[in-house]
Amino acid sequence: MNHDRVELLRAKLDNFTISDYHGLKSPGLTCYLNSVLQVLFMTEDFREAIKRCCSKDSTTIDSLLGKLFSELERSWARTHSITRNLGIADVCRQRDAAEYFEKILCLSSVEASKIFKGELNHKTTCVKCKTKNVSRNFFWILPLTVENLGRQTYTVETGLKAFFKGETSCSVNKLYCDCCNKKQDADVGCEMTLNPQILSILLKRFSFDHNHRCHVKLHCKVDVPQTLHMEQCTYELYALVNHFGSHRGGHYTAEIKSFETGEWYHFNDDIVERVKQPLFGAGNTSVRSHTAYLLMYRKVSRCPEKTDEVNQEAPFIYSDVKAEGRRDEAEGGEALVPHHQVKDEHCSIGGNLMCLNADMV
Ligand SMILES: [Zn+2]
Repeated sequence: MNHDRVELLRAKLDNFTISDYHGLKSPGLTCYLNSVLQVLFMTEDFREAIKRCCSKDSTTIDSLLGKLFSELERSWARTHSITRNLGIADVCRQRDAAEYFEKILCLSSVEASKIFKGELNHKTTCVKCKTKNVSRNFFWILPLTVENLGRQTYTVETGLKAFFKGETSCSVNKLYCDCCNKKQDADVGCEMTLNPQILSILLKRFSFDHNHRCHVKLHCKVDVPQTLHMEQCTYELYALVNHFGSHRGGHYTAEIKSFETGEWYHFNDDIVERVKQPLFGAGNTSVRSHTAYLLMYRKVSRCPEKTDEVNQEAPFIYSDVKAEGRRDEAEGGEALVPHHQVKDEHCSIGGNLMCLNADMV
């Protein structure tokens, strides 16, 4: 065979789509759901936990996920029953991937969802009497406030630093102190006391523009590192959910590194393709993205257990960190988490969904 024909054949083969994974067929435009379902399927411990739990528990969403996962292991699969179970009536309306990720975890068995569960201690110290309050809350997702830094590139590390940086709540943000019996300035801060097995990070691209008094999507570039070091733990990136488009609507896809083949794949509804160019090529320790929205990091090293004084445990199961951040967005505020005073401690999935959907439509 001559050289030209070999090259022609090679080019044809390169364009031929072969993937080790399969796509999802949906009843409508539910890319936000398809992306997170594929992330959950491609998370080894979650897939295994669902397989273990789904046969014995009918009160959770495990059995539906189990059926979907076993179909996906063989071929393409339909999301119709999951869409129904999640109460998605209008399947053509754009919704938020992060909210549906949390909604699925809320409906999953504890054994499966605990893989994504982390814990934060929020500390408040009254500046006047020095009384300290600690509240412990758990989370599924850490929401980072994305900033347009102009010529500089916003990095995930910058966002994490801002998230955990202490600040003083003063003037209109004074907090009520039980000892002083009135509102006082307070030092507030937060620290991670339980590192999740899978660390999920939300890049809050949906924001409120105070100057123009409208909701916007931030398209700025973000440097996403392959490896993150947090509280003496090392995490490695294995999934990104991307959002293309504006706050009014758009499209979600996911790029996920397989625990089975070690390769990266691009999941786009019913199409799955192997990523030909490695995300982290020679010498690249981070990937620059205008579309990265949700990031999933897998813990690759053990970290020492941490204990801390806790005098109050918040009993709600929904991430108050997220609820707080989103509510601020929806109301046009820009307050950074953490806050000591949680305004709404309910596991109100519906309420939170409304906030972000308002941004999206
Ligand atoms: Zn006080």
